Amino acid sequence: MDRSFFQPGELVGVLTAQPLDRVLDYKAPDGGCFTGAFVEVPLGPRKVLGVVWGPGKGDWDISKVRSVIRVLDAQPMRDEMQAFLEKAGAYTLTPMSAMLRLATRAPGLGDPQSMRKIYRLGEGTPDRDTDARRRVLAVLKDMGGLSLTLNELSEQAGVTSSVVKGLVKQGVVREENTPRDTAFPRLDPDFGAKDLTEDQIAASAKLCVGVQSGDYGTTLLKGVTGSGKTEVYLEAVAECLRQGKQALVLLPEIALTAEFLSRVQARFGAFPAEWHSGVTMTERRRVWRMVGEGGAQMVIGARSALFLPFQNLGLIVVDEEHDTSYKQEDGVLYNARDMAVLRASIIGARVVLASATPCLETWANADAGKYDRVDLTSRFGPAVMPDMRALDMRAEKLPGNRWISEALRGAVATRIERQEQSLLFLNRRGYAPVTICRACGHQIGCDHCDARMVEHRFLKRLVCHQCGKTKPMPEVCPKCEVEGRLAPVGPGVERLAEEATELFPNARVALLSSDMFGSARALKVEIENIANGGADIIIGTQLVAKGHNFPLLTLVGVIDADLGLQGSDLRAAERTFQLMRQVAGRAGRAEKPGTALMQTYQPEHPVIRSILSGDEEGFWRAEAEERRAAGVPPYGRMAGIILSSTDVQEVFDLGNAMARQDAPLRRVGAQVFGPAPAPIARVRGRHRVRLLVKAPKGTALQPALSEWVAQFRLKGQLRMAIDIDPQSF
Ligand code: ADP
Ligand code: ZN
Repeated sequence: MDRSFFQPGELVGVLTAQPLDRVLDYKAPDGGCFTGAFVEVPLGPRKVLGVVWGPGKGDWDISKVRSVIRVLDAQPMRDEMQAFLEKAGAYTLTPMSAMLRLATRAPGLGDPQSMRKIYRLGEGTPDRDTDARRRVLAVLKDMGGLSLTLNELSEQAGVTSSVVKGLVKQGVVREENTPRDTAFPRLDPDFGAKDLTEDQIAASAKLCVGVQSGDYGTTLLKGVTGSGKTEVYLEAVAECLRQGKQALVLLPEIALTAEFLSRVQARFGAFPAEWHSGVTMTERRRVWRMVGEGGAQMVIGARSALFLPFQNLGLIVVDEEHDTSYKQEDGVLYNARDMAVLRASIIGARVVLASATPCLETWANADAGKYDRVDLTSRFGPAVMPDMRALDMRAEKLPGNRWISEALRGAVATRIERQEQSLLFLNRRGYAPVTICRACGHQIGCDHCDARMVEHRFLKRLVCHQCGKTKPMPEVCPKCEVEGRLAPVGPGVERLAEEATELFPNARVALLSSDMFGSARALKVEIENIANGGADIIIGTQLVAKGHNFPLLTLVGVIDADLGLQGSDLRAAERTFQLMRQVAGRAGRAEKPGTALMQTYQPEHPVIRSILSGDEEGFWRAEAEERRAAGVPPYGRMAGIILSSTDVQEVFDLGNAMARQDAPLRRVGAQVFGPAPAPIARVRGRHRVRLLVKAPKGTALQPALSEWVAQFRLKGQLRMAIDIDPQSF
C-alpha cells in the first residue's frame, strides 16, 4: 500500500476522538511514523489516542508543537478506511472525531498496557467490606464470569485501580494474562454445500459472478420469506472466501445470530467471528485485530461492524435490508445499509441487500438500474405463501376488554386440535398502552416525556417506552387522589396473552416480547423451545416478525392490522406493508400450508388490500408515485434538524430564527418546513422541535446545510442534531 512516511520531527496531522473537530499538528516521534498509524499524543494534561491522518499544516511556531508520544502496537488504519470515514462524515455531517470513535471501538486500543491483564471474579470475601470494594464485586458479578481490563473495571465501578489490586491480593478478584489473540478457524467454502433449486442456482450464479468481478456493485436479492435467500447469499460468501477475501453479514437483530451461526457452521464447517453488543471485551479485541490481520474470514455483526478494519473485504450482505434498526438513531445518525454501499464502492466490493419486502429506496434504485436485482419467486420445497384474508372487525361485537374475534378464535382452536401452532401478533409491548383513572379521566404519563406510561404486569411497573423510566403502579390517581379506580385501556401483548389463556385454558401460551428476556441467550432458549413444539399459541411483538423459523406454525392472526396506518408519516404505508407481509410469512414455512388472518376496521384501505393481494410491484409503483408527487425520498432529498432544550421558549426561538435565515438553503433550491414539535416532542425533560429540509434530487444538500446551521450559536441548554435521510417525514 502506498502510504507516506514521516521522518522524526516532521509535522503530522493527528485526528483524535476528542470533540475538537480538527486535525491537530504534532511532530513525528523518534523512529518516525506512517500515515494511518495509531498513536498516543499529548492533549493538554492528558494522553489520548489518535490516528496520523496526513501531513501537518505547520502554519505556526514549530517550536511550540509537541511530539507524538509513541506509535501504538496496532495495525495502521488503511487509507480506504480513512476515505470511508471522511465520506461518511461528510454525508452525515458528523464531526470527524465522532467518526473516528466509531472506528476505534476496540477495547484496549488506546491503552495496550492495561490489556495485558484481565480481571474476573475470584473466591471468598474481602477482609474489609467497603463501598468501593462492593462496587467492584458487583460489576464483576454483573459480567457473569466474563472478564474486564483494569481500566474497564475501575471505570465501571468508579474506583481507583488500587482498590482492584487490593482485592486481587486477597484472591477475591482474579488477575489473568490476556489470552493471545488467535485467528478464527478456517472456513471451508466447499464444506456442506446444499443442492440448490434451479431458481436458487440461477440467483447464486449471478451473485457469484459479481463477487468474481472484483468491482463494486450492489444487488437486491428479493424473495419471499422461506425462498432460500440465506442459502443463496451464503453461496456468494463461499465464492468470496474462495477468492481469499473477507465477507461481512449484517443482521438487524442480535437475537437472530444464534440460529444464523449454526447455519454458517453447517455450511462452512466452522463458526465465523461475531461483532455486536453481546460480545465480550476480550473477544471484541480479538475480532478487531483478526479482521485487520486477515485472521477472520467472515464476520456476523450489527451495524457497527461496518467500521471494523477489514484487510480485504470482498462482500457485504445486509440481511433484512428494510429493517429500521439499521438506522442508528443516537450519536452518529447513519443508515448501515447506505454506509455498506458507500464502503463497498470505495474498496470495490459487492453488496447484497436481501429482503422479502425491500424498502422503497432500494426498490427504486433497482428500478432505476443503479442496483442489480435478483428474484426468488417461490418458497423452498413444498412450502407455499400463506393464504391471506381480512377479518372485518366492524361486524364483530366484542366486549371492550376482548380483542380476539370469533373467527380468529375458531381458527386457533382448529390449530390446537391439529397440534399445530398459532401466532397472535400485536406490535405493542406491555399489558396496556394506557392507564386511565375512571374517576377523573386522567391518563398516567411520563414525568419526563410527552408519552403515556405503559403498564407492564410482568415487570410489575409502569414503563415509559420513550425514555425507559419506570415507576410502580400507583394505588390512587395522581391527579384526583381517588383510590382503586385506575384501569388499563387497550391491549398490549401481556393482556392479549391473558385473553388467550382464558379462551384456551389447556393451551400452552408463549409470550415473545423483548422485555420478557433478560438476555439474548434466554430469548434463544425460548425460541428453540417454541420451534420444537413447546407452545401452542405464540403471542408476539415485531420481534417474531424477524426471520425465525417455526416449522409447526400454520396460523398467523394479526390483532390490529390498522395500528401502523395511523398518523401522518409518509412512510406508514410502507412500514405496515413490510411488517404485515413479514409476519404473515411466518406461517406455513414447512410442509403444512399456512393462513394469515388480519383483523381490520378498514378492509378496503388500499394498503390493506395490497397486503392481502400480495401485489407487491403494484404497491411499490403506487407508493413511488405518491413520493414522487410529494418530492420526498427517494425522489427528493430530505434532512431533519432536531433542536432540543430544557427550555421550550429557547428551542422555538432558535427554530424560528433558523426558518427565517434560510438563504443558504434557498440558494440550492431547498425549502425548510417548521419548526414543529418533533415526532417525540419531549424526551427526558428536553423539549424537541424539528425542522424539515426538502430539496430536489441531485442537490448538494450537505454543504448548504453546513453553511446554514453555521449561522447559529447553540447557547444555554440548546442542542442540535442533523438527521440526513430521516426515517419519518
Ligand atoms: P429466506 O432467507 O429467504 O427466508 P432460507 O434461506 O432461510 O430462506 O430458507 C428457508 C428454509 O428452507 C431454511 O430452513 C433453509 O435451510 C431451507 N432451504 C432453502 N433452500 C434449500 C435447499 N436448496 N436445500 C435445502 N434446504 C433449503
Ligand atoms: Zn419518559
